[in-house]
Amino acid sequence: MKRAIFPGSFDPITLGHYDIITRGVTLFDEVIVAIGVNASKKYMFSLEERMAFIRETFKDEPKIKVVSYKGLTVDFCKEIGVDFILRGLRNPADFEFEKAIAHTNRDLAPIETVFLLTAAKTSYIASSIVRDVIRNNGDYTKLVPKSVVVKQ
Ligand code: ADP
Repeated sequence: MKRAIFPGSFDPITLGHYDIITRGVTLFDEVIVAIGVNASKKYMFSLEERMAFIRETFKDEPKIKVVSYKGLTVDFCKEIGVDFILRGLRNPADFEFEKAIAHTNRDLAPIETVFLLTAAKTSYIASSIVRDVIRNNGDYTKLVPKSVVVKQ
């Protein structure tokens, strides 16, 4: 069975992530959305909220799972027996950043990173922009799946 993890912060999940995940399941038997926990990072949404948004978004899709992990992504891949990392590419800056991480991961473990180019209509979306829109009371609903609801 071909399984991939899609690692990230998902603070919160956006329509850009949604695009990569739904296209990822056409390539893999299972896509595991893996929320990396970094104790020194400040998040807008708690881990529980971020997991709940993703679970709700994909509740009718048995090939998509949601987990959280600590530590190196490649170590987590080994722990759960996954051979592929799925990542999205929006622009040249993403490419440069992702290239360095993918090469480093290949040095650390025999795990392939598979990149999907983002859909043109969601390529401008980033969680950081969504958070900014939320903080300033803008209409964030155009940028995220319906499951993402901000408590007032
Ligand atoms: P992090 O910043 O912790 O790496 P993100 O949640 O921002 O995590 O991103 C996780 C993955 O989703 C990365 O591969 C990133 O390139 C991808 N991604 C983020 N935004 C989009 C988007 N709008 N379209 C496609 N992929 C995206």
